[in-house]
Amino acid sequence: MVTKTLGIIGGGQLGMMLAEAAKSMPEHISNIIVLDPTKNCPASRVGAKQIIADFKDKNAIVELSLQSDIITYEIESGDSKVLESLHDEVSINPSPTTLKIIQDKYLQKQFLRQNNIPVAEFDIIESLEDLEKKIIDYQYPALLKARRDAYDGRGNFKIENQSQIETAYRQFSGRQTMIEKFVDFKMEVSVIAARNIHGEIATYPLAENIHKNNILEITIAPARVDSKISSEADRIAKKTMDVFHGAGVFGIEMFVTKDDKVLINEIAPRVHNSGHHTLQSSDTSQFEQHLRAILGLPLGSTKLKHTTVMCNILGPKDFVGRYKPITLEQKDGVYLKMYHKDEAKPQRKLGHFNVVDEQNTSDVDTLLEKTLEIKNSIKFIQD
Ligand code: AMP
Repeated sequence: MVTKTLGIIGGGQLGMMLAEAAKSMPEHISNIIVLDPTKNCPASRVGAKQIIADFKDKNAIVELSLQSDIITYEIESGDSKVLESLHDEVSINPSPTTLKIIQDKYLQKQFLRQNNIPVAEFDIIESLEDLEKKIIDYQYPALLKARRDAYDGRGNFKIENQSQIETAYRQFSGRQTMIEKFVDFKMEVSVIAARNIHGEIATYPLAENIHKNNILEITIAPARVDSKISSEADRIAKKTMDVFHGAGVFGIEMFVTKDDKVLINEIAPRVHNSGHHTLQSSDTSQFEQHLRAILGLPLGSTKLKHTTVMCNILGPKDFVGRYKPITLEQKDGVYLKMYHKDEAKPQRKLGHFNVVDEQNTSDVDTLLEKTLEIKNSIKFIQD
C-alpha cells in the first residue's frame, strides 16, 4: 500500500489531534508536516515536522505542497488564492474554492441563502450611511460583523441603540462588514459533518454548546432538544455538505430559536472544538474521520456510544506565563487532553477534558455537575 505525507496548515491543538490520528493510521500516512508560525507548536510536540512560517506565507505554502501528497488545514486563515494556484499539483481538501467562500462571512451566508439553507437575515454594509439606513429595518439589537479574519466573537459588535452605530462602524474601520439580525436563540448547537472525496456524507448527532465571553466552554453530546429539532439540524447539515464541494470534516454551528427554528450561524471547514467529545464518545473521532474523508476511505461510524460532556480548559484571567502541569485523575470516564502550550494567557485554549458516561447509567445533569466540579478543581500555578 502507498503511504502518504500529510501536510497541515496550522499546528495548534486541532493540528496536534489530527497528527495523533494520522499516527494511528500508519498504513495510510507515513509523515506529517505542519506549517505554523509558533516554534514548537502543539502538533510538532507529538511528532509532526514543522515549517515555521506565517499561515499566509506563499513560499512556505509552496514548500509545504512540495513536501506533501495531500494538504489540509486546521485554521481558515490560509491564503486561499495561493492554495487555489496549487490545486493541480497537490490534493487540497476541503477545496480552496470552498475555503474562499467560507473565509468571508458575507459570501458564506449568501451561498447558504442561495441554496435555501436557513440563516438569519443579513446584508452587506458599504459605508456608515449605509449602516445607518439599513439598521432601521433590522431594529435593535443588531450585529455588525467583520466579514473576514474574525473568530471567537472578536469580529462582532452588538449594536444596542442608535448611539452605538458610529462606534461599531469605526471599530471595524478599514475592514469589510455586514449587518445581521440578532437571533434571540434558546440554544447554540452544532453538527460535526463529514464528506469524503467520493461524496459519501456522514453526520455526528447534534451537540449543544455553551459559550462564555464568546468562547466555547462546554459541549454536551447529545444536545438536550427534541428529536424534531435534531432531525432538522441533521437535514440542514447534510444539505450543507452536499452544496459545498471538497472533502473533510466541517463544524456547522447553528442557533435553535425560541420558536424551534434551526438557523446556521457559521461553518468551519475543519475539525471543530465542539467535536472533541468524539475522541471518547464515538468509535471514530472527528480527527480520524477528517483523515478518512480526505484520503477517500469509507467514513467511520458516527454513532454516539456514550453521553459526553466536553469542557475547555482556558487560561485564567490574570495569569500569564508558564504553569505547572495540569493533572486530573483519569478514571470513571474522565479524560484529559492538554495541548502542550507552555505559556498560559487569559482565555487561551490550553486543553480540554471529557466526562463520559461509559456505563450509560448517568443523566446529563449528573455529568454536568461532575464537569463543573472538575473544572473548579483545576488550578494554574506559576512554574
Ligand atoms: P461568530 O463568531 O459570528 O460565530 O459569533 C460568536 C458568537 O456570537 C456566537 O456563538 C453567538 O453566541 C453570537 N452570535 C453571532 N451571531 C449572532 C446573531 N445573529 N444573533 C445572536 N447572537 C449571535
